[in-house]
Amino acid sequence: MAGGNYDVLIVGGGHNGLTCGAYLAKAGRKVLVLERRHLIGGAAVTEEVVPGFRWSVASYVMSLLSPRVINDLELRKFGLTVLPATELFVPLEDGDYIVFHDDVKKTQAQFARFSKHDAEIYPAFDQMLREATNVVRRLLYETPVDPSRRDWKSFKATASLLWRYRDAAGQIYRIADLMTQSVYDFLSRWFEHDVIKAVLAYYASIGTFAGPRTPGTAYVLMHHVMGEHAGAGGWGFVRGGMGAISNAIAESGKRWGMEIRVDAPVGRILVEGSRTVGVALKSGEEIRAPVVASNANAKHLYLDLVGRTELPAEFVREIETFKTFSTAFKINIACERPPQYKAFDKAKVGFDYPTYVHLGPTIEYLERAFEDAKHGGFSARPFITPVAPTIVDDTLAPRGKHVVNLFGGHAPYKLEGKDWNNERGRFVDTVMRTMDGFAPGFSSGVIDMQVLLPQDLEELIGLPQGHIFHGELTPDQLFFQRPAPHYADYRSPIEGLYLCGSSAHPGGGVSGIPGYNAAREILRDHRR
Ligand SMILES: Cc1cc2nc3c(=O)[nH]c(=O)nc-3n(C[C@H](O)[C@H](O)[C@H](O)COP(=O)(O)OP(=O)(O)OC[C@H]3O[C@@H](n4cnc5c(N)ncnc54)[C@H](O)[C@@H]3O)c2cc1C
Repeated sequence: MAGGNYDVLIVGGGHNGLTCGAYLAKAGRKVLVLERRHLIGGAAVTEEVVPGFRWSVASYVMSLLSPRVINDLELRKFGLTVLPATELFVPLEDGDYIVFHDDVKKTQAQFARFSKHDAEIYPAFDQMLREATNVVRRLLYETPVDPSRRDWKSFKATASLLWRYRDAAGQIYRIADLMTQSVYDFLSRWFEHDVIKAVLAYYASIGTFAGPRTPGTAYVLMHHVMGEHAGAGGWGFVRGGMGAISNAIAESGKRWGMEIRVDAPVGRILVEGSRTVGVALKSGEEIRAPVVASNANAKHLYLDLVGRTELPAEFVREIETFKTFSTAFKINIACERPPQYKAFDKAKVGFDYPTYVHLGPTIEYLERAFEDAKHGGFSARPFITPVAPTIVDDTLAPRGKHVVNLFGGHAPYKLEGKDWNNERGRFVDTVMRTMDGFAPGFSSGVIDMQVLLPQDLEELIGLPQGHIFHGELTPDQLFFQRPAPHYADYRSPIEGLYLCGSSAHPGGGVSGIPGYNAAREILRDHRR
């Protein structure tokens, strides 16, 4: 139970709330994390839903977790073990395949089977993307400036940012392209073959309500490739599922005195005058502290927990219109055997089994999947990322059985003219048919499953409209616009109230960076 007299209360025990809390506890602050569910982790959580099978309920691969957070919080000492996933295997509809390697030469060899031109240009593309990624990766740790403010402090912050990034000035054109172009246009300036464009464009579809031809999607490609392709804190499965990351962060924070209460939903942020003085739990219990940091998403924080009347009208409008409409689904499966892809031949491919796969073989396929959702339905042929963690992790399923996680799109939060209660079964059949098309017989080995549509993700994890990143990662919702102009620096219109989760810069993904950055800003404002 809580001991009282806290310096900081954290609303939400997702991995970012825990990260923020751990850094603050490390700096000597008395921290209490309040989580509404019976367990911590938010979207980075492992649960036993089907007896004997444990799985990563939402996020399923580690890609963006900050090396800084891993090292500072000594996460490996607290149980974080990254297990390798194979390189990306993409089966094609004609029985062929393509493997996307981290190694440039190997990828070139793959591309050469489709286009000599694309193979030749790939090293230059890879170099360009790595250089742009290096700049953006540094930006992840910045507190967004407010370029519209005219006071001396803000001017100094903006000038200092520009000065620190002067070596990256040459990247400005590439970054402008990434921020404004569709992933299709961006890739078409380099590549000619559709299959090769689709291998890369798939990344831009992940978790985004957009198709490859939607402007702004080029950035989403970079957001994903940043972790996976260019390697950050490690890439792959986490032993014990993604919950092991959250648990390691929590254990790390606890040694500095961080306290955690589960089954403790916050119902209200207490505001006196223009500042926060703590929270009221849904149970009615009040806990007071001078600082409250919210890992809960911006819409829930401001519209439900603070309330419109406490906030400037313009700010409320910004939060209300922050785009969260989601079409991403997750299906977790307990099964007899992992998918047997008809395009996979281990002698040709060079590894035993593809644990990480993208089903979305052409631009047309990805665009059509989006078109269906744009018109209010679910995709007749969804794109799917099937992963098979039990190939490398023996802690998740009984011996000889497997866990397969399917993540994909598009299954809109709301259907046009139809009700998910009636369509759910039909959607699952569609996904299974798609799986069987690439891996015949897969569905016949299914023992049980957990189906998570956006509405389920909203209800279970508290994601706004089920959005996997707490809000779209489109350029209009990034950096100094996330989640709203003038309040992208983790602060809010209420003094002492901060945002420390994915609704803030740099957005979603299991990175720990919003939590890390928010802790830094809280410590800046509340020195001892
Ligand atoms: C299906 C799916 C697949 C994904 N796949 C990947 C992936 O493979 N790799 C990757 O890096 N990222 C992935 N992501 C994205 C990533 O998981 C999230 O962006 C990230 O985990 C969000 O972390 P967070 O701590 O910011 O917020 P959350 O995890 O959303 O945590 C917020 C916490 O606040 C709690 N909360 C909310 N309201 C209250 C309240 N009133 N009182 C108390 N507690 C409250 C919630 O219960 C929750 O625990 C995926 C997400 C989903 C949903």
